Amino acid sequence: MEWSSYHRLEDIHGYMDYLAETFPDVCSVVSIGNSVEGRPLKVIRISNGKANAPALWIDGGIHAREWISPAAVTYIINHLVENSEDLEADYYILPVANPDGYEYTFTRDRLWRKNRKRSVGSQCTGVDLNRNFGYRWGGLGTSKDPCREIYAGSGPFSEPETNAIRYFFEASAANFKAYLTFHSYGQYILYPWGYDKRVPPDYADLEMVGKQMATAIKKAGGANSVYTVGNSATTLYAASGGSDDWAKAILKIKYAYTIELRDTGKYGFVLPARYITPTAKEALAAVMVVTEACKSL
Ligand SMILES: [Zn+2]
Repeated sequence: MEWSSYHRLEDIHGYMDYLAETFPDVCSVVSIGNSVEGRPLKVIRISNGKANAPALWIDGGIHAREWISPAAVTYIINHLVENSEDLEADYYILPVANPDGYEYTFTRDRLWRKNRKRSVGSQCTGVDLNRNFGYRWGGLGTSKDPCREIYAGSGPFSEPETNAIRYFFEASAANFKAYLTFHSYGQYILYPWGYDKRVPPDYADLEMVGKQMATAIKKAGGANSVYTVGNSATTLYAASGGSDDWAKAILKIKYAYTIELRDTGKYGFVLPARYITPTAKEALAAVMVVTEACKSL
């Protein structure tokens, strides 16, 4: 794997399998389910076996066109495996949460966002997977129209991709303290709620750790790497059925964040590959801050 270009799904999955084969004491790969078109949803677990370690979930690529997200997440995977003796948490990482959409952005439509579900009774394809999670499903910032980019699906967890994530958490005994989902673009660190302009009771903790992430990102990326911290609905826009709200409300995971990576709009979703490494270093800095916060819980 290298980070001077964006990679197809096969390369990313091949890299994960290579790591599991090469470093079996530190990492393992499981498929937690299949996409609409039958592609595996591969999760890599990275752990050095330290007792009582907190667990962090990291995902990328739930929106197909946000290529920087899987690229940054694979960079994080690489760093964690290379420095595995120092790890103080266990990591469960799904770099491409929407594999059908991701491949579609390479083969047909660079700006495709949704999955590839064919809707009954409509000519339009695709569900916005980040409107399909089962907390406050179908509320503000969603659509019932399959032709819209924010179509929430026929019901909560109607999609195999979101369902696989739900079943993974239901079956897991890991001690999850953080749920980080990487998107682009805009340079935001967002915490719940997304469904409305309200905040969870412990929002001050989320705000504090969010600000620490922003500081670490600036240190890693330089003066232009300014990330705005706040709750989703107020800072960006209201969006119900997002994974972070579900992780916070239903899974009761304390540090649930949506991180919108570079840039602020010059290139938008089509971020040139030369920005992968600097952006990924920022994402990694954020993960390390959250790891530290999880340790002290
Ligand atoms: Zn997104």
